[in-house]
Amino acid sequence: MHEFSLAIEVINLAQREAEKNMAGSIQEITIEVGDLSGVEADAFESALELLVKDSILENADINIVRTPGKGKCNACNLEFEMKYRMATCPQCQCFPSEISGGEEFRVVSLVVE
Ligand SMILES: [Zn+2]
Repeated sequence: MHEFSLAIEVINLAQREAEKNMAGSIQEITIEVGDLSGVEADAFESALELLVKDSILENADINIVRTPGKGKCNACNLEFEMKYRMATCPQCQCFPSEISGGEEFRVVSLVVE
């Protein structure tokens, strides 16, 4: 359900952006979804596909870019890929690690027609 409200938010944002530019439609939109953002990229994509009908994004190219989770170990400074939030350092199994990427959920580009 979370993904549904995010999809609605993205459509509203695109709508406002189009109005600002007095554009009738959006050509392309790119949304970045981090693996650690708490947003299920696949669920978000299907929610968006369902909701764009009759919206400003109906004919737009929708790109969803997934960014991998990145962590940095507080003990040994190793940077590693984090598959989930509670991942520990693969080198020293240390926890907690600092999250240095993959938490973002944002619209990175929007092309109006
Ligand atoms: Zn470590």
